[in-house]
Order: sequence, then structure tokens, then C-alpha cells
Amino acid sequence: MTAAGDPIPGLAVVDAHCHIDLYPDPAAVLARAEAAAVRTIAVTNAPASFPRMTQLVSSCRFVRAAIGLHPETISASEIDLAPFWEHLPATRYVGEIGLDYVTQDRNVRESQRRVFAAIVERCGEAGDKILTIHSRRAAAPVLQVIGGSFPGRFILHWFSGSVRDLERAVEAGAFFSVNPAMIRSASGNRLVASIPRDRVLTETDGPFVMVRDRPAEPKDTALVVNALARIWSVEPSAASAVIRANLRELLRTS
Ligand code: MN
Repeated sequence: MTAAGDPIPGLAVVDAHCHIDLYPDPAAVLARAEAAAVRTIAVTNAPASFPRMTQLVSSCRFVRAAIGLHPETISASEIDLAPFWEHLPATRYVGEIGLDYVTQDRNVRESQRRVFAAIVERCGEAGDKILTIHSRRAAAPVLQVIGGSFPGRFILHWFSGSVRDLERAVEAGAFFSVNPAMIRSASGNRLVASIPRDRVLTETDGPFVMVRDRPAEPKDTALVVNALARIWSVEPSAASAVIRANLRELLRTS
């Protein structure tokens, strides 16, 4: 018997955006993700964190390390991308990258944009990359950079843009990863309801998103699956099957 609100075993499919290295005990979180068989993209915020993440997930069956450079760590000064290029061939997964336009500083925004555009360009050349992208207050500029011709796959993580941004993103081929925090408000539920079902994935953005009194972790994506079932008026198992099919599409190599 599980307490109300506990994740139902088997519903969790994918955590497309989780900061495994930022939990107090990453190994324990990994062990629980593996036990629940949750496909997890372990994002990093800086290239320097990638080797350790690679090592952490080396014995995992379901978790993959991503090379990232978080926009909030970017200042106006020139960024040395050499370490990013060095590690990029080692993984298919890229993130956390993107733009955060909470800053009003035009030079910082421009610096973020240059870095993001350079990464997207290199990933496009590689062809088969899967990107998890931050777009806070910057959905339109993110879509301007990635356009409609990116040859890999990209996921807008914790999307919070307008309906028009959403339409543009769908047109550009975006997937959207939905986390437990996004389904707590009525407006969040409305936004999630307007994403085409075949573009929806799940995430936690752990440890930043909380579930009750603790950081969310990959198995908690079951809570999102439950919410999607409610939003779509289907059984939780059917919602889980939709996410599984979408994951298969995300991973498909063209
Ligand atoms: Mn994140």
C-alpha cells in the first residue's frame, strides 16, 4: 500500500533533465533511478563537471551523461569553449544549455546568445545530438537560434513561453519536458494541455524541483505521468505509454 501521492511503480519512463551531480548523494539517486528503470539525462552546468558525471553513470544502464553550459553561468566576458568541444564527441546528450533573459544586461544576453548559437551549430554538424534547453523569458530568441532545420532533436525544458512561442516551437520540431512544478498551477496545467501529446516528455529538474519536502528525483516523473493522465483524460498506464512512444521517437536515429 502506498501513501497518497507516492509514485506508482512502472509509470515513470523518462527524466529528460536531472542534475544528478547536485544532490548530496548522487550515487543513491542513481541507484533508485536504475531500480525504477527510468531513462535519465544527467545534465551538467559546466564542461568541467562532465568527466565526473561520466564516471558516476559509467555502470548505469538507464542514465546518460550530458555535456552542458548553463546560461546563468555566462558573463559578458569571452567564454573559452575549448573544453566543451573537447567533450562533445563523447556523448549524444547536450544540456543544460540555452538562454536566460532574466538578466537585463544586453552584453550578457549577447554573450549567452553567442555561446548557445555556437553549441547549436556544432551539434547540428554532428547531426544526431539530443539537446535539453533552458529558455526562461527567452523562448522566442531560443527558437530564433535553433530555427526549424536542426537535424538532431531538442527538448525545451520547463517551457514557460506564450501560446504563440509554443506554436512556433512545435513547428520547429521541439519536444517539451514537463516537471512536477509545472503541473501545480492552473496556468501550468493549461500550458501543458496545449502541448501536442506526441511532443511531451517528463523531467524533474531535480534537485531544484521539490516533491513534498524533498528534492524530486527520476522516479518522481510518475507524478507527472499521473497529472498528464488527468489532463488528457486517459488512464495513467495510457499516459505512460504515450511518454514511452515519445521517448522512442526522441532516441530514434534518422
Ligand atoms: Mn536545470
